[in-house]
Amino acid sequence: MDDAEPLTRVMALHALVYCERLFYLEEVEEIRIADQSVYDGRRLHEQLPEYVELTSYTLESERLGIKGKVDVVRTIDGRWVPFEYKKGRARLSRDGRVQAWPSDEIQICAYALLLEEHFERPITEGRVYYAADHRTAVVLVDEELRARFAETVRRAAELRRSTQRPPVTSNTNLCTNCSLAPVCLPEEERLLLEVSAEPAQRFFPADREGSDLHVTSPGATVRRSGGTVIVEERGGERKEFPIHEIVSISLHGHVQVTTQTIHACASEGIPIHFFTTGGRYVGSIGNLAGGVQRRLRQYAGLTDPAMVLYLAKRLVTAKVESQLRYVLRLTREKQRETVESEIEVMREAVKHVHRASSLDELRGWEGLAGRAYFTCLGTLTRDDGQLALDGRNRRPPRDPANALLSFWYALLYRDCVRAILVVGLDPSIGFYHQPRSSAYPLALDLMEMFRVTLCDMILVGSLHRRQWSVGDDFVQAGKQCWLSPEGRKKAIELYERRKQDKWKHPVIGYSLSYDRAIELEVRLLEKEWSGAPGLFARNRIR
Ligand code: SF4
Repeated sequence: MDDAEPLTRVMALHALVYCERLFYLEEVEEIRIADQSVYDGRRLHEQLPEYVELTSYTLESERLGIKGKVDVVRTIDGRWVPFEYKKGRARLSRDGRVQAWPSDEIQICAYALLLEEHFERPITEGRVYYAADHRTAVVLVDEELRARFAETVRRAAELRRSTQRPPVTSNTNLCTNCSLAPVCLPEEERLLLEVSAEPAQRFFPADREGSDLHVTSPGATVRRSGGTVIVEERGGERKEFPIHEIVSISLHGHVQVTTQTIHACASEGIPIHFFTTGGRYVGSIGNLAGGVQRRLRQYAGLTDPAMVLYLAKRLVTAKVESQLRYVLRLTREKQRETVESEIEVMREAVKHVHRASSLDELRGWEGLAGRAYFTCLGTLTRDDGQLALDGRNRRPPRDPANALLSFWYALLYRDCVRAILVVGLDPSIGFYHQPRSSAYPLALDLMEMFRVTLCDMILVGSLHRRQWSVGDDFVQAGKQCWLSPEGRKKAIELYERRKQDKWKHPVIGYSLSYDRAIELEVRLLEKEWSGAPGLFARNRIR
């Protein structure tokens, strides 16, 4: 065993025999779902039959290259027998004999070998109890199983050295019980391979569990007490939020946060985002998820000029087509004639984007389409008086409509950063935006796909519904305009509500919230350079 080789967890060997890709995601890319239910399909400790006497050993062996916790060892006729308890059903041979599943056999063998080495006693068999059908399988720790174990350890070391994720398993039943299916997206990958015409099963959750905590009151302090985040306002008002229900914290303006809160959030993987009073995104504190192999693949993919151009074309096509479709939708019943020439410019841009041979050419067509699009929005919000969108301006925004757009784009940027970190990619390496400012290029890239649906649409909708008061919701200082505290609260509410709206992905074929759609796109993007390309940036508004 090479000194530098890390010891493999016995549960990781179990995962490897279950599915090589599961092993790779857990052990090499370090993707773990933070909840104990990860192992629900594979382990059962909390429902042990009462008669069992528990003896637990945590053992490791440099020689075997493994470590693990042997939960139960029973003595039968003077022999030591490791036991494992599983939630599912036993395997039955054709002639009806009760057998353990191959992954469970390897696990038992690993425990047997650890016990033999540490206690110098021969272990010749183990047992697996399957709770679903109350059957116990005997596992003989013979030469054949020991050889299979050695081969599994060898394969684990080989996979650790690889930068390529193994393919999805061909046994679709395994995915049904796999805790990492929402990350792996096996059905989406099979869709690409045309193994199935449409996703047979959907593993990616429609909604995210937990919510984004926004703190907007000037002078408020965010502190932690036990498992609770407490927001104390200047006037003494206090609100409490269980930390496990929070997925991110956004601090707007002059808000304090204690070191203990930052510490707790860092260890729980909850990013903290900072915004200025005017709504500009300043930065985030958050852990980059582990998984160096994943980032090596990203660097290799995004330093390949052909890959970069291909992805940028997909992205700009998605953006310009969404802008065009939105304008067509807005003018379905009236005013089409007032924006006919701008629509033509956007149609031309879509055609040329497909044929573009450089990033500069793409940027040219995207800019042209963008100007035409905002001219359309200006024309179509003309009746909204002082709130009408008079072209796009920023840094700083000069009118209420642009103040709203800038604020929502900043929130969208934050959500894109978070999704990228959740997936474990490096946000500082993108493919379309250049690293010119402190903003992460990959987050800027990703936002392009969601500007229309998550920001522009709520702007036009809220203007038409007359939801804003120029006097109460905005502050005009010289040529600058930003949101008042009241306006900011309204804008956050509209944005967060919009994120929860569900929409059916036209290619994947299932519905999910916009919030989840951002993360889904990052996962599909990663597949572009991980051997399963073709699904990124294919979503469009209807
Ligand atoms: S979802 Fe399926 S292919 Fe992906 S890791 Fe799990 S079992 Fe393997």
